[in-house]
Amino acid sequence: MDTKTAQILDGKALAQKIQTELKQRVKSLQGGRNRPPGLAVLMVGDNPASAVYVRNKERACAKIGIASYGKHFPAETGQTELEEEIHRLNADERVDGILVQLPLPQHLDAISLLYQIDPDKDADGLHPMNMGRLLRGEPGLRSCTPAGVMRLLQEYHIDPAGKQAAVIGRSILVGKPMALMLLETNATVTVAHSRTPDLAAVARSADILVVAAGRPEMISGDMIKPGATVVDVGINSVTDGTGSSRLVGDVHFESAQQVAQFITPVPGGIGPMTVAMLLANTVESYSKKS
Ligand code: NAD
Repeated sequence: MDTKTAQILDGKALAQKIQTELKQRVKSLQGGRNRPPGLAVLMVGDNPASAVYVRNKERACAKIGIASYGKHFPAETGQTELEEEIHRLNADERVDGILVQLPLPQHLDAISLLYQIDPDKDADGLHPMNMGRLLRGEPGLRSCTPAGVMRLLQEYHIDPAGKQAAVIGRSILVGKPMALMLLETNATVTVAHSRTPDLAAVARSADILVVAAGRPEMISGDMIKPGATVVDVGINSVTDGTGSSRLVGDVHFESAQQVAQFITPVPGGIGPMTVAMLLANTVESYSKKS
């Protein structure tokens, strides 16, 4: 039996490499300045997954020399108090990046909070101004997860130009900016979503398949074009019969790796790349200040 398996797109290793490069860049930029770069992560409430993400981000900041000015607010914090905090951080000269850890408690309006962030400090690249810049193909801070996908493809010399790309998921966080970035690099892009009737057909047509639906292992090997590049953005915690939980992506890895030429693992694929792009955005904003 043919047991050919895909090459792993190692996001963890590339993220390490990027962090080492950023550390050097911070060192050389800091020579001419009297402060390190600064990132403020705002977290509201006690979502355990968010707490892990925030800790990872702050740890990564410390490693490369970015100062953290994050704040943790109780779940019942009001919209006005958060807006005031964002305005304070906008004016704080030590802060180059601000991000609001999502999801927020139900009573808060995340979109209107994003509007309050100075677009030049928008480390997550989710401000409508930066989204608009992406839409127009202008320079600007890019959304971290799709930017991480593009950087990983580039590292492995996978050029989207002229290829059929399919993005499964149309969220503002991942799917939509992902489709625009693939379009910007001259792929022919199809976007599928929860109302797409024949998802398998769309997936099977793709030379580059990016899956960001938040549905555990929904894409199996038989839905993948032989030789395709498969990027799994999904992060899902599933519990097995014995009650122990593990992380899986939106792609059924074992069957997919028999068909694809390149594939990202979960964990160790796009997750670490997202953090690396957040750090890169913060250093980018820092580099633009005198
Ligand atoms: P979301 O829930 O906002 O959006 C999911 C999208 O998938 C929607 O557009 C929906 O239409 C589509 N979808 C849902 N079910 C579908 C189905 N059965 N068929 C086709 N399309 C379907 O989620 P999101 O924020 O975009 O995140 C998606 C996944 O990526 C989640 O698992 C999330 O945890 C993960 N994620 C990972 C990172 C990372 O750093 N790796 C970052 C952000 C999100």
